[in-house]
Amino acid sequence: MKKSIKNYNLDDLKEELKSINEKPFRAEQIFKWIYQDKVNSFDDMTNLSLELRKKLNDNYDLRNFKIVNKLESIDGTKKYLFDVGDEGNLIETVLMSYHHGYTICVSSQIGCKMGCKFCASTGIPFSRNLTSGEIVEQVLAIERDLNLRISNIVFMGIGEPLDNFENVMKSIQIINNPKGLNIGARHISISTSGIVPKIYELADKKLQCTLSISLHSSNNKTRSSMMPVNDAYPIKELIKACKYYIQKTNKRISFEYALAKDNNDNLDDAKELVKLLDGMLAHVNLIPINQIENGNYKKSTNENIIKFRDYLNDHGIVATIRRELGSDISAACGQLRRQHLKNK
Ligand code: SAH
Repeated sequence: MKKSIKNYNLDDLKEELKSINEKPFRAEQIFKWIYQDKVNSFDDMTNLSLELRKKLNDNYDLRNFKIVNKLESIDGTKKYLFDVGDEGNLIETVLMSYHHGYTICVSSQIGCKMGCKFCASTGIPFSRNLTSGEIVEQVLAIERDLNLRISNIVFMGIGEPLDNFENVMKSIQIINNPKGLNIGARHISISTSGIVPKIYELADKKLQCTLSISLHSSNNKTRSSMMPVNDAYPIKELIKACKYYIQKTNKRISFEYALAKDNNDNLDDAKELVKLLDGMLAHVNLIPINQIENGNYKKSTNENIIKFRDYLNDHGIVATIRRELGSDISAACGQLRRQHLKNK
């Protein structure tokens, strides 16, 4: 089987080229063709010898994703459903347009093992991890399709990025490389449901990525009822890992909190949250929960959401309410894929 060329970071590609008796600097040329010129074929890499182009054609794969479906929201958000090429596996990627540029929300796995009760990805059986090349290709495919440059990446699509740690790290190396996609770590957010040992591992890498923690509740009973991962890594351990991350990286952590009516949205919950995050370098991102089909959670009222935010702000916790984008095109995690599979 051909090896996917997009799975190599620049150093690995240099080694790979050496192993086929080619000069390592060719790796930089190939990187530029793929990530900056965005060519579709090795034959288009005109500064490589015909012999090298043949070797590449024979042994490596530069395959691009096929767009299965593309939806556009009235707010400009675009949602892509890609066929990644094996067994009709499908993934979702969302592009959001903000005044400061384009942000892409990438998937890290096909399906998810975490089983969060409020998430549309739950119920999609876990199939496999995405490779680093497939993570990067989501960015490339959209840049190619719309002829634009993406400036920010969030790992908030389908999957748990810290459950696919190696491939996610390698994709970030390709994304960061000035000869690759050249998007700085500061413009990348990794969102996790809270896999504690991996948070320590990430902290030790001292990347400048933003870490987002899907907290959703400050007490173990409610959090466990929403997120089974909390049984393995309860809140106290999670917060300890977060403090370690802050100490190692000096970066503020973003806590995601999806507000569901009568579940985690009253002032006692806000009080508990203030206590939990007291003195931490943190920001709270409040999200009106996206109601999924057959789901048990209902969106909080606007009034409650504002009260919740104001309580946090008045007690020294910086909190903002996330603008809902793309709700008319089922932009929430897993919804498009779910619909597509159902229609089939
Ligand atoms: N597995 C990772 C990243 C994917 S989910 C994680 O858990 O963080 C990305 C974000 O969307 C998470 O904060 C998740 O909790 C949130 N999310 C999932 N379903 C949601 C829904 N129905 N409403 C609001 N937020 C949701």
